[in-house]
Amino acid sequence: LSKKQSRESAIDAGPLLIRLERLSRLLRQASQTPGLNPAQWEALRYLARANFLSNTPGALARYLGATKGTTSQTVLALIKKGLVTKTMRSADARSVILKVNEAGEKILQNDPLQNIEKSISDLKPKIAKRFAKAVQEILNNEIQRQNEPRFGTCKGCTHAAREEGAGHCQEMKMIIPEAETLKLCFYHQPKPL
Ligand code: SF4
Repeated sequence: LSKKQSRESAIDAGPLLIRLERLSRLLRQASQTPGLNPAQWEALRYLARANFLSNTPGALARYLGATKGTTSQTVLALIKKGLVTKTMRSADARSVILKVNEAGEKILQNDPLQNIEKSISDLKPKIAKRFAKAVQEILNNEIQRQNEPRFGTCKGCTHAAREEGAGHCQEMKMIIPEAETLKLCFYHQPKPL
């Protein structure tokens, strides 16, 4: 490393970690609303972003880092509140699909984390780029350390092959509709660098 590089990399990570922890507490606190608790918001957001292969109770539990029991309580609450519908996958009667319905989509338009989203989009472009890179790198390291699924999209997935107007998944051996290729997938495997 050059002197300049060493100076630039010599960051005191301790105070930054404290801020990250505080920010994560504030994110949870903001998601404590009269209608939904933070876990219900997190589940609703995930189900709205997950592709058609990943909107299952099992994938949701892995995404939330929660037990199947806790996740099923959260899902039950969302179903009772009329925000999520539960159906069976036609090819496999044992496989449950969870979908955010119209009422759920409407609630998500008032997601309390929109303020944080706005703070991020207000960052200057140069800072925003560095921030995105840093967050991705820290997230990747932690996912690897904890051996958790990546939950990426078809872009950058090792199983993805392009076909006209759609993606083809070599893992699932099926065509992935264009809109679904942009959603989070439980089976995503990043391409090697
Ligand atoms: S290509 Fe990858 S991300 Fe896309 S559906 Fe297949 S496994 Fe999931």
